[in-house]
Amino acid sequence: MSNKIEPIRGMNDILPDQSSDWQFVEKFIRELLGSYGYGEIRLPLLEKTELFSRSIGETTDIVKKEMYTFDDRSGNSLTLRPEATASIVRAGITHGLFHNRQQRLWCMGPMFRYERPQKGRYRQFHQVDVEAIGYEGPDIDAEIIFLSARLWRRLGLNDVRLTINSLGTPESRKAYRTALVDYFSRHSDQFDEHTRRRLEDNPLRILDSKDPGMQELIEKAPPITDTLDPDSAEHFNRLCGLLDDAGIAYTINPRLVRGLDYYTRTVFEWVTDRLGAQDAVCSGGRYDGLVGQLGGRPTPAIGWALGLERLVALLSDTGNMPPGPRPHAYLVAAGDSAPRAAMLLAELLRDRLPGLRLMVNCDGGSFKSQLKRADRSEAEFAVVLGDQEAAARKAGLKPLRTDGSQVEFGWDELAAHLEQLTT
Ligand code: ATP
Ligand code: MG
Repeated sequence: MSNKIEPIRGMNDILPDQSSDWQFVEKFIRELLGSYGYGEIRLPLLEKTELFSRSIGETTDIVKKEMYTFDDRSGNSLTLRPEATASIVRAGITHGLFHNRQQRLWCMGPMFRYERPQKGRYRQFHQVDVEAIGYEGPDIDAEIIFLSARLWRRLGLNDVRLTINSLGTPESRKAYRTALVDYFSRHSDQFDEHTRRRLEDNPLRILDSKDPGMQELIEKAPPITDTLDPDSAEHFNRLCGLLDDAGIAYTINPRLVRGLDYYTRTVFEWVTDRLGAQDAVCSGGRYDGLVGQLGGRPTPAIGWALGLERLVALLSDTGNMPPGPRPHAYLVAAGDSAPRAAMLLAELLRDRLPGLRLMVNCDGGSFKSQLKRADRSEAEFAVVLGDQEAAARKAGLKPLRTDGSQVEFGWDELAAHLEQLTT
């Protein structure tokens, strides 16, 4: 029997050859968010369970069956965050960030949902979360959509499409709920047990069903536009105008609802055909009631979350990822005194050249085996040190990726030479 410990299903290790892709994407997104004036907020991965049950909604899939919830040693019920908006709102209330102030915030990190693992759907996954809190008008709705659109453009992704809708206010949504219950009740003989329960506790969510057998019924369901209140309709029209001005193409889907209960008015999704069934890359919406609902003063807000696994997969697929950083040089040293001198030389070079990516051969070996390691490291050059060179404070520089012979330099000259590589 093997005593190997298996990883948890749906939780991935990101290995060094993949992490360079992640770092590239993360840096890109950070810079873009900074350029729009959004500030980073970093939050605990654990919150009181109540935070999520009260915000996301007791009858949503996330709260009903997907949360990692446990009691800590004092008997408090805690949950690993399944999404970031509730935590950001909680932190803002904790620190009084929303008192007479508007906040543009972002956060990045792992989320946890006990879903059925498959391609693009994991139990630990990563999101970038963008929130604009304290803003009422459709201009900020447009801004956060522009921001995501610019991200796709800059990353060379031209096949993600935007779908938008308005869910109206809680009051107008009640009227819509009634219309939907009325419509679906007439067809409930075709429903399975799950959908029948949905009809009672959360009928809007039936529209979100991925069951192929339900699609025709959903397409014929009454659109929310029929019951939308005039203010929400006006807000939505102004948003559409701003998207038109910016030349951002979108489809209005009057049956788009989202998996969390706190959304009001604007909701949207960016989807692609290249990810199979897990087609949403980024989704979000307005949540004007949430801050009040969690104990803060009523504060309008909007945000989106982007799935990093899906974005990284899309980019790797297009070949738009730059190669990860490779060492400039790998230092090989064999002999009696050379390995010790190599440690000193490496530190001297690093003092002089902070941008230098230098790997030092450790654990000895013949020149031949060390040069093999140098080659495997993908370094451009080998720096070669024997006892004689070490005594004379000299070293050889040998190109590893081009033809050319080894050239000998004094340590100072070597530093000057390597400096050209790092700038
Ligand atoms: P989906 O319809 O794919 O379940 P969702 O509506 O649950 O997505 P949100 O909760 O709005 O998604 O999360 C925002 C984004 O996070 C999604 O658009 C998706 O890219 C990503 N995402 C959500 N759940 C997962 C998961 N289990 N694994 C990987 N990425 C995910
Ligand atoms: Mg989901």
